[in-house]
Amino acid sequence: MQFTANMKKLSILPLAAALTALAPAPAISEDCPAAAPADREVISQVSLLQGLTFGDYNGSVPIARLKKLGDIGIGTFDRLNGELIMLEGVVYRAGHDGKLEVVADEETVPFANVTFLDADEIFELSDVKDIGVLKAELNKKVKAAGSNRFYMVRIDGTFDKIGVRSEYAQKKPYKPLAKVLETDQTFFEHKNVKGTVVGLYCPEYMGDLNAVGWHFHFVTEDRKSGGHVFEVNAASLKVSMDRTDGFSMVLPDNEMFNGFDLTVDQSADIKKVETGEK
Ligand SMILES: [Zn+2]
Repeated sequence: MQFTANMKKLSILPLAAALTALAPAPAISEDCPAAAPADREVISQVSLLQGLTFGDYNGSVPIARLKKLGDIGIGTFDRLNGELIMLEGVVYRAGHDGKLEVVADEETVPFANVTFLDADEIFELSDVKDIGVLKAELNKKVKAAGSNRFYMVRIDGTFDKIGVRSEYAQKKPYKPLAKVLETDQTFFEHKNVKGTVVGLYCPEYMGDLNAVGWHFHFVTEDRKSGGHVFEVNAASLKVSMDRTDGFSMVLPDNEMFNGFDLTVDQSADIKKVETGEK
């Protein structure tokens, strides 16, 4: 009898699943997708980099919600008010002065990528002479593990030299990012400093949604300084690499974003954003 009862249960399950699939989709709650327990193997992205390069610096997602989607990540803040680094669940701002501060849960972000760091691989890199070498070494690992997936890395060590940038918060009407970077970028060089780089790798097919390849942000070990990384030199670094198979996007709902013509090719502007070139 027990066996029959179980069989009945089993045969009902697929039907129940089918009915669920046919039911109208529930209204999206304010917390969606953070309402469900977050999948640790998902890169969550707020907006698209192409929205940011157009000048949509309107914060749409609060830090509190970002923290439900991950404990590590990079991004920026409402008004483009500095570079965002999330590390061990704490969100830092590297401001225009290069100084670091912990950011309140109520602040919002117009663009960010976060996930939960579950390192699949931990390795050392030595003789990292510049950012090109760092990317090339990480790319070897990416190639071995699958180039068409996402990766988040945490890189710890002493940096003989690390160059970072940030920018001044903007006022409305917002200018495109490439224009902002011409006048409002600030640069800092740290020597012989301990700290952590947080890096995101996006596969080639992400070219319309984000920057393809690596994007790094940095915080010093004393949590006093940081920024978007454009140069690196280190004798030895420890890398914790998380291969991530899922991708989820939260789109902002504001007039500026809704009106963008995203058919315009912005690859040159995105290149500038990545490298910090003027
Ligand atoms: Zn950056």
